[in-house]
Amino acid sequence: MPPVAELIFRTGTMDAGKSTLALQTNHNHAARGRSGRLFTSHDRAGQARVSSRLGLTALAQEVEPGFDFWRYTVDALTQGARIDYFICDEAQFYTTEQIDQLAKVVDELQIDVFCFGILTDFRTRLFPGSARLVELADRTEVLQVEALCWCGKRATHNARTENGVMVTEGEVIVVGDVDSEPAAPADADVEVAYEVLCRQHHRRRMTAARARAVSLSPEPLPFA
Ligand SMILES: [Zn+2]
Repeated sequence: MPPVAELIFRTGTMDAGKSTLALQTNHNHAARGRSGRLFTSHDRAGQARVSSRLGLTALAQEVEPGFDFWRYTVDALTQGARIDYFICDEAQFYTTEQIDQLAKVVDELQIDVFCFGILTDFRTRLFPGSARLVELADRTEVLQVEALCWCGKRATHNARTENGVMVTEGEVIVVGDVDSEPAAPADADVEVAYEVLCRQHHRRRMTAARARAVSLSPEPLPFA
């Protein structure tokens, strides 16, 4: 009996090294002679690429909202392709239907699916794709590489800043990156960036920049 295929969800905050692990996982399986496909959605490097903060990148297929994993896989297999596994990066951006399709690919076609993604958005709400993965995955693993808040505590939340100010409302999908230049804003004069924080500092909207500003400002006069 061959091992049973699995749907695995590896999750962490934005700084946790998910894309690096996605690329490493792909490398490990390819080195064993297995044949895989890479997918991503809204990667920091732009479309159709998995890129890690350490500088590695690989070509990938962009998962558009209408993309059908089941149809794609059946078509590829029908044309004689061999597929042993999928690497699915930025899986938080996939639709719930696409996650359902991935589960079907695992069960019916015995293809391993490794998903990598963020659990919650900048408002601290579960991404629909991530919620569906938690519901369906054979295993959900929180990445051991832990990102840290500026205070040194474990960073469990993703903060979005617009022109340097933390926001908790807005479009869920705006691509940007932690510690790199802010993303090309969809909305011309707004610079969107992300920062990982502990829950307390996310609640207080205390980003590293704001904490620095507060610590540098003179003591307020008692009755000013
Ligand atoms: Zn903190």
